Amino acid sequence: MDTTSFVKKNIGFENVEPALTPPPVKTTSLPRKPKLSGGKSRKKEIPEGLWAKCPTCAAMIFDKELDENLKVCPKCNYHFQISARERIHSLVETCTFEEMDAAMTSVDILNFKGASTYKSKLEAYKKNTTLKDAVITGLAKIGAHRVALGVMDFNFLGGSMGSVVGEKLTRLIERGTEKELPVVIISTSGGARMYEGMFSLMQMAKTSAALAYHAQKKLPYISILTHPTTAGVMASYASLGDLILAEPGAMIGFAGPRVIKDTTQAELPPGFQTAEFLLDHGLIDAIVPRKEMKTQLVEYLDFLAAGKNNGKKSGAA
Ligand SMILES: [Zn+2]
Repeated sequence: MDTTSFVKKNIGFENVEPALTPPPVKTTSLPRKPKLSGGKSRKKEIPEGLWAKCPTCAAMIFDKELDENLKVCPKCNYHFQISARERIHSLVETCTFEEMDAAMTSVDILNFKGASTYKSKLEAYKKNTTLKDAVITGLAKIGAHRVALGVMDFNFLGGSMGSVVGEKLTRLIERGTEKELPVVIISTSGGARMYEGMFSLMQMAKTSAALAYHAQKKLPYISILTHPTTAGVMASYASLGDLILAEPGAMIGFAGPRVIKDTTQAELPPGFQTAEFLLDHGLIDAIVPRKEMKTQLVEYLDFLAAGKNNGKKSGAA
């Protein structure tokens, strides 16, 4: 067989010229800004976009203060959504993040047409988020540990998993396996990307298989679930961690509570599908507030790598 003529097909994504990782962009990816135009009151003079209202305690928080507090409400500890770049910045050692597949973009393989086309959606989200897709992957150092790190971003099409998200994570896990590194994936997702139909669902099997090879080498995988982590993502790599952590108050599940309630015709218990509920029921291992995430991760990696490095010269810890 002439193997030189064999070309691996890329289905649902394309590789374009690699680009430098753009610098972190201050995105204010918060829920609706409170309307400050209070009729005749002098509040009208306050410019919009400077404040955010906490959906839990209704506190008005300066955007700057919120940014400095890693998008956590200083009054009630509510965790606002945070972009993938901000999260990477908060976790890895300075200048250690080497992004992988930075320029990989989705292709409208099904020629999807609905209220708007997939193509136009992709264009709009790329422009608004300055992301290429819903995940950023790369190698980085957290504390003294080199890790393969994948971080999802809910701002890009609801963090939905299409071919690019699946492929980038699979390549990340494979790189981790090859270099014998722990894998850390931080998820936030509404599930599979409907615009890619079956191709999107296939990513569940692909990422899970890559993790199985990673596990065969006895390498640790830490999955971190943030608000919300649901459906196809929760039903694949997000729930396969050796250690599964979650942020406080995160909504985690497969189908939404309304669907479950309608299907089972039963009242759902209070707090159903929250991180706290799942911790009580043994589905996750710990709830870690965002501000403690880095310290905790280093501690867990120390512990997991200690076993891995038994009898080896190089102690990562
Ligand atoms: Zn609050």
